[in-house]
Amino acid sequence: MFSKIKNYITENTGILIRLDDIAENMNWDLMKKLELLFEKHAIKPVLGVIPKNKDTDLLAYPKKDDFWEKVREWSSRGWEISMHGCTHVYETNSGKKDYFGYGGNSEFCEKSLENQIIKIKDGLNKFEEEKIKVRSFFAPNHTYDLNTFKALDECGIINIIDGYGVFPYSYKNLNFIPQLFYKEIMLPFGIQSTQIHLNYWKEKDFINFEKFLRRHQKKIVSFDNILNKVKSSFFIYSINFALKNCIKISRTLKF
Ligand SMILES: [Zn+2]
Repeated sequence: MFSKIKNYITENTGILIRLDDIAENMNWDLMKKLELLFEKHAIKPVLGVIPKNKDTDLLAYPKKDDFWEKVREWSSRGWEISMHGCTHVYETNSGKKDYFGYGGNSEFCEKSLENQIIKIKDGLNKFEEEKIKVRSFFAPNHTYDLNTFKALDECGIINIIDGYGVFPYSYKNLNFIPQLFYKEIMLPFGIQSTQIHLNYWKEKDFINFEKFLRRHQKKIVSFDNILNKVKSSFFIYSINFALKNCIKISRTLKF
């Protein structure tokens, strides 16, 4: 009995490594170091690529001219390429009316369904032109409204790496992989995603991340592992829902 419980916990405990703000302009020195680290530990991360980056903060970083060639190389290694917004430029403020209630600036919230579809298609077209397969999405600043979800569904993207919960779940035809904390934290149970902003990292952040990977290597899961585990069960959805407020509190404490 106990070994069964133990196995169940082991099988359902893991973390997906999600990198944010992957674009032509970024901290390429640290990215090179991370690539070697992922290779060494056989980790398949999710890379949140901004297809048409126009964010002036990000444009200040060094530019890689053969960026899309690099993205194809990552994709051929089995690393998951996710769409992280379209231009990464905030155009509205959700004023806490966004789906997850985080509030703040948004590229998508409060825009009409038609406009959101145009924006998402625009981004997806860029990936198609570059012959890169995309199966998932996460919005800049975690801000979505119901139209964002409808627009994604209409564009054939049903996997969202964001939101609350301790376990991936399906809801309204979409799969959600929770993203809970600002720092890398391994929970004793559940499967969720990191958010890593390389551009803001200092050398010590890299060292800490390396330690985290070494310590939890066995619990690091790939995007495909997670898709196989996504449950539509009401039980999982209820647990996630019940934990929503606890996680909201921890998030405001910037864990
Ligand atoms: Zn971002």
